[in-house]
Amino acid sequence: MTKLSNLEFDAAHIWHPYTSVSNPPLLHEVTSAKGVRLTLADGREVVDGMSSWWSAIHGYNHPKLNEAAHQQIDTMSHVMFGGLTHEPAVNLARKLVEITDDSLQYVFLADSGSVSVEVAIKMAIQYWFAQNKPEKHRLLTFRNGYHGDTFGAMSVCDPVNGMHKMFEKVLPTHLFAAAPECRDDADWQDSYIEDFKHLVEKHHHELAAVIVEPLVQGAGGMRIYCAEYLRQIRALCDEYHILLIFDEIATGFGRTGSLFAYEQAGIVPDIICMGKALTGGYMTLAAVMCNQQVADGIAADGSGVLMHGPTFMANPLACRVAAASIDLLLESDWQTQVSTIENSLNTELTKYRDHELVKDVRVKGAIGVVELKKPLDDAMDWLPGFIVEQGVWIRPFRTMIYIMPPYIIDTADLQLLCDAIFHILNALNSTER
Ligand code: PMP
Repeated sequence: MTKLSNLEFDAAHIWHPYTSVSNPPLLHEVTSAKGVRLTLADGREVVDGMSSWWSAIHGYNHPKLNEAAHQQIDTMSHVMFGGLTHEPAVNLARKLVEITDDSLQYVFLADSGSVSVEVAIKMAIQYWFAQNKPEKHRLLTFRNGYHGDTFGAMSVCDPVNGMHKMFEKVLPTHLFAAAPECRDDADWQDSYIEDFKHLVEKHHHELAAVIVEPLVQGAGGMRIYCAEYLRQIRALCDEYHILLIFDEIATGFGRTGSLFAYEQAGIVPDIICMGKALTGGYMTLAAVMCNQQVADGIAADGSGVLMHGPTFMANPLACRVAAASIDLLLESDWQTQVSTIENSLNTELTKYRDHELVKDVRVKGAIGVVELKKPLDDAMDWLPGFIVEQGVWIRPFRTMIYIMPPYIIDTADLQLLCDAIFHILNALNSTER
């Protein structure tokens, strides 16, 4: 039997994110990565505009993260967390407690972003159960949100985007307020929060928590919104006794210009989820943190245990790399890096605002989004190849061409990414005609 090439075997046997085996996606094989560059199997190098979905903030193959991983492999790659603890977990938790608000004191180390959302939801439901209020078990969120693909996480994803439609009948029914629209605090009007407020007033007796992605709704549309929403939500949660969960899985660790997005609103959630850039994109690890009130509240129930405990919880290898990644971030001049990227994206991408295919251009921190008037679905048979020919790695999604590069990207490589977007727009224009 002839051996299939990697790409052939992949097409015949492997699922990629959100793909069908009957129509395998067009793939590029990547063999190595260093700094902001990915090397493909055919020898080409491309500048990474995606940070592997928000995570590789320091770029790839970083000597300090490699060293942390090597040292930990030589010591202990994994050990169960039930009945045992270890320095990598304690060290990471110490750092997380240090870099977040003083009120966030307890850490649960989960194994992926979606699982951290599950844990946050469980925390909120268990909290009210322990307060003898089991009727407070529903969640309120914004439309256009995305929190992951596991069942609890899916239940708080926007039901109208259709992604999880086939599971509708088996998902818990939560509440969805109109998606945030206002991008600038200066343009704020109280009418923006009215739908949300109305749902809180009507349903607070059954609401365990509000869950939102602060400042940027990611996979649900790369929508950027202003901090005033978060202040209003915090006030409503306080007034009506509802816990507040921030999903900072995408926004955490500097991406929006502050270490965590909540800092820009001057308020703090009761529970926060983080993942993605937690390990600098090296390992699968996520964390949920909560305040004393939530932790004590859960403990108030009979046995008071938090009902979650995955096998790879607090994996020492991942924790060690995460601690090294946080050190690397704090030792770097990430604020300047992110604001330099933000300035360049503002200058370069807003040039395309009047392009005939473009509906909107949005920039926040190290995130740049060009939203098109029409979905890109028909172009997906040639676009990935065309993008790589431009010497970059960008992965358009629905109507969006967006970039969120590693913070270490230099001006020339960032320009290459912005120019590539321009070439993509022109190529789309010529295929339209
Ligand atoms: N929440 C947000 C805001 C996300 O962007 C993602 C990942 N796209 C998740 C949750 C789920 O994280 P993971 O893919 O690690 O399960």
